[in-house]
Amino acid sequence: MGHAGQFAEIIVDINARGVDRVFHYAVPEMYQDKITVGSRVLVNFGSRQIAGYVVGFGTPAGEVKVREISGILDAEPVFTMELLEIARWMADSYLCSTAEALGRIISPRLGIKNARVVKLLYPALPDWEMEDALKLMARSPKQAAVLRTAMERPGLSRRELSAAAHADPKTVDVLIDKRLLKAAVKTFSSFQDLSLRGGTRSPALRLNRDQEAAFREVSGALKKRRFSAFLLHGVTGSGKTEVYLQAISAALAAGLQAVALVPEISLTPQMIDLFYGRFGEQVAVLHSGLAGRERYNEWLRVKEGRAPVVLGTRSAVFAPLPNPGLFILDEEHEPSYKQDDHLRYHAREVALKRAQLSGAVVVLGSATPSLESWFRSGRGGPYKLLKLPHRIDEKPLPRVKIVDLRQEIKEGNRSIFSRNLVSAICARLQKGEQTLLFLNRRGYATFVVCRECGHVIKCDRCDISLTYHLDGTLRCHYCNYQTKMPEKCPSCGSRSIRYFGVGTQKVEDEAKILFPQARILRMDSDSTSRRGSHERILSTFRQGQADILIGTQMIAKGLDFPMVTLVGVVNADTSLFMPDFRAAERTFQLLTQVAGRAGRADLPGEVLVQTYCPDHYSITAAARHDCEGFYQVEMPVRSALGYPPYSYLARLLFTHEDEAEISKGAALAKEILDKTLAGHDNFIEVLGPAPAPLSRIKGRYRWQLVIKGPRRNELRDIIRESMETLQKCRPAFRPVINVDINPQGMQ
Ligand SMILES: [Zn+2]
Ligand SMILES: [Zn+2]
Repeated sequence: MGHAGQFAEIIVDINARGVDRVFHYAVPEMYQDKITVGSRVLVNFGSRQIAGYVVGFGTPAGEVKVREISGILDAEPVFTMELLEIARWMADSYLCSTAEALGRIISPRLGIKNARVVKLLYPALPDWEMEDALKLMARSPKQAAVLRTAMERPGLSRRELSAAAHADPKTVDVLIDKRLLKAAVKTFSSFQDLSLRGGTRSPALRLNRDQEAAFREVSGALKKRRFSAFLLHGVTGSGKTEVYLQAISAALAAGLQAVALVPEISLTPQMIDLFYGRFGEQVAVLHSGLAGRERYNEWLRVKEGRAPVVLGTRSAVFAPLPNPGLFILDEEHEPSYKQDDHLRYHAREVALKRAQLSGAVVVLGSATPSLESWFRSGRGGPYKLLKLPHRIDEKPLPRVKIVDLRQEIKEGNRSIFSRNLVSAICARLQKGEQTLLFLNRRGYATFVVCRECGHVIKCDRCDISLTYHLDGTLRCHYCNYQTKMPEKCPSCGSRSIRYFGVGTQKVEDEAKILFPQARILRMDSDSTSRRGSHERILSTFRQGQADILIGTQMIAKGLDFPMVTLVGVVNADTSLFMPDFRAAERTFQLLTQVAGRAGRADLPGEVLVQTYCPDHYSITAAARHDCEGFYQVEMPVRSALGYPPYSYLARLLFTHEDEAEISKGAALAKEILDKTLAGHDNFIEVLGPAPAPLSRIKGRYRWQLVIKGPRRNELRDIIRESMETLQKCRPAFRPVINVDINPQGMQ
């Protein structure tokens, strides 16, 4: 609470670098016992009235004229000291302002646009005292009207009350300030809806020996109350989820709270039911799909300690737990843990930082861990590696067969479907079993491949596939190397070299011709843009009302289809040659995941992977279900080219309507970066400027600079300094500059 003679230290809610510091405001007498660290208040700033966050109390230096806080925005503080610390760390790590980070952290709170909407108003005094107060209001008929209405109809919202009394809402505020009206926050428990769903209890299962060993490590760490991090590497179907659930129970038993994060696509009703079944109304579900009010209520239950178990997607990493003990990230390698616009934070990094600050335990789980996490769980690394190498049911992993598309071309088959895949699908249609056709397409870049020998044209310097542009050039999106589209394959001399890109629509069209009797469904972002259509397509397919489901990444994860016995990967190369240094890793992860979709019930599964590069290690390792084999080849490649996890990468993305302006501006930024770097012996390298793979969106051109260096903080400092110089050099040049430290993709 504020103390007499002290001033509140406030961060104002303006997203500008110059004002990202603490300002002092006097605390008026009537707010003395209401304002605390974490309060959101209203302050005069310049000529405006804006929101501010109270981050401490102190005395301003010098004899500056200090203004007063003019209002309180919420009945309760909206963030804790720990989350304030996180906001400051985010501002520092991701080059944003503290206010912006705080805004992100408390966004479920902000989802309720007007805090008073959820507050219901009641008379603050007994009736006879209210009558006395009314007598004194002869000269304020509006206030009297509001007070009478509140007495007659207690429990209206601010807006309802002012409307019913034909008064201005501000009159209501005056009466609240005079303590004649009091506000009570009404909350709704989402568990109420749950009883309607007839949630079944799911008791703890018996752990097998590997699960038991992993669980014991995690619960042991929980007891010590010291920060520790685990990488739980478990093959598909090895029972990671049961380990998570029992670890959460252990955290609860120790009086702590837990957060379990899942990728957007895995937050299925089955997953939610599983958590409710185990922990009942102790669970709060947090994700961006919830309506504002719903999300706020869940957030409030977490904050007040009524829901000690949080299940959610990326942003749930900011859940306001009073005493966090456990952070779980399932499928920790998923790119969706990275926020993709504005404030580009990574949920894994935030979880690790929160755990460090509060002495909590982090469990990163995956069947195909990211190279970063794998690297950190190596000898002497900060993570401890836990392994679940066996499937629970001891069933073998599905058989994966690689189909060489070069051979198909040689034998005259130019269709998307190899003969192998066609006959495998026909066999399923006859038996009444289902097929998944998967296209791991990123959709934005077209690479060039020789259909005779599988050669793909890459940048010598960056080892990134060159992207085909409509003007007939091939470009590297990291360093902007350009070359003409060759007429012949530089490797084998064949003329069958061309740019490549297949959409789900095209696959569907061809499938309809090849299998006219089959019932075919397609699921991609085009067919699922309407709310709920995603679930509808999946449930239609799960109920056996279709034979073939065609889709992108969306169908690869977290979904169980008992009748699917065949998974066909239409073209593995589309992700293998996207212009990104993580292309091989993503391909390996996607293929392994897709392969896990086949034959999970009583029917044995088969996976066919079509490719022009049947010898590529990410494809052969995925076919063998061999994670470690993949890392053994990929790690030295990353090391040789200086890519993460052996270095840190940042991307500066410039967008502007005028292409000439933006290329000039990006070139200037590069010049400034180089100048800033000169004289420092820090091994930082600046690549580009080059057009981004998606070179134009909604009429705005996009250019990028890629910067890499061995130390993250150095990289960040150089970028910060250079961006400040850039603004000074050309104040008229105002592109949108987006800084992405540790980018997960570079569209
Ligand atoms: Zn060739
Ligand atoms: Zn290059």
